[in-house]
Amino acid sequence: GEVMDTIFVTGGAGFIGSAVVRHIVQNTTCKVVNIDKLTYAGNLQSLSSIDGSERYFFEQVDICDKKALDKLFAHYSPAAVMHLAAESHVDRSIDGPGAFIETNITGTYTLLESAREYWLSLEESKQIAFRFHQISTDEVYGDLEGTTDLFTEETPYAPSSPYSASKAASDHLVRAWGRTYGLPIVVTNCSNNYGPFHFPEKLIPHVILNALAGKPLPIYGDGSQIRDWLYVEDHARALFKVVTEGEVGETYNIGGHNEKKNIEVVETICALLEELAPRKPDGVEKYTDLITFVKDRPGHDARYAIDAAKIQKELGWTPDESFETGIRKTVEWYLNNTDWWQNVLNGNYKLERIGQE
Ligand code: NAD
Repeated sequence: GEVMDTIFVTGGAGFIGSAVVRHIVQNTTCKVVNIDKLTYAGNLQSLSSIDGSERYFFEQVDICDKKALDKLFAHYSPAAVMHLAAESHVDRSIDGPGAFIETNITGTYTLLESAREYWLSLEESKQIAFRFHQISTDEVYGDLEGTTDLFTEETPYAPSSPYSASKAASDHLVRAWGRTYGLPIVVTNCSNNYGPFHFPEKLIPHVILNALAGKPLPIYGDGSQIRDWLYVEDHARALFKVVTEGEVGETYNIGGHNEKKNIEVVETICALLEELAPRKPDGVEKYTDLITFVKDRPGHDARYAIDAAKIQKELGWTPDESFETGIRKTVEWYLNNTDWWQNVLNGNYKLERIGQE
């Protein structure tokens, strides 16, 4: 078919960004420019399924580099920016918040300014159609401990960690650029994602790979923390719907109504591995024997849960996967894609960059 608009995806070599890039290239006629610095979290091997597509472009650029961004806007003339580039790991933000302030706050500011200058240069019809889509997290809303409440789009911000505080700051900047300068923005706040190509430092892949290696499965505190899980491909589909059909200035919460305690998540993974990988490492009788409780993370939020009624009602989006079907697909994916995660664990996923330079 006819090639449509060009979309910038920042952070397209990351976990969610790569799902967004694959989704757009495989299911739409848009062109995608993946703008990614390739930090430790960036992995071009997550995009091997679209290698060679004429509608996919990669630019190794830091979103803090205004000159480089200006050149990209001038060169590609995008119709929209989907902004996912971020430092994303809460534990790393506690050990070293500096990179989170730099990328999540200063980087978002720099991208907003570059986008705004480009947007001002467009003719009116293109200005009206342009979108700056900020991709954010439910962690900006803080902790729902001890309630049965859900986060709505009206819930006030109350971030707990350096990560969520830096994301909250960047969301505020995006809304201010909408209100003050008229930049056509949309914001989405999503719950915890899981699925294929998830970097092994995050809970679900960490547990799968440690279990397969016969290593301890660490759980913070007593494992009673509740997270609301969404399959990453459902998120990618929701994001494309919002950037193409969402109303300017609006916020949409995205979630799967899948509240689970961390301990339940780990036990579910162990049960699936008993079924799908019954040959266990030496000395392991049951995968659940590997569960180890460790000192809780400082400032750890007890519960997050999303009310996704608005995006469901206004844009007709609902998730395809329940937690039960999504977690089974995920475990199967890690069992069938050992090359991908072995290249992450042994550092070879970085070799691809050398060829790029
Ligand atoms: P990720 O860490 O897997 O990927 C981040 C990507 O951004 C990497 O490819 C990295 O190289 C790139 N990047 C980092 N700093 C950069 C910079 N200065 N310039 C250009 N690129 C840079 O993260 P993710 O889990 O895919 O999350 C993507 C976005 O979605 C983030 O904004 C995050 O806050 C948000 N989010 C994540 C979740 C989740 O559960 N993972 C949930 C809701 C929202």
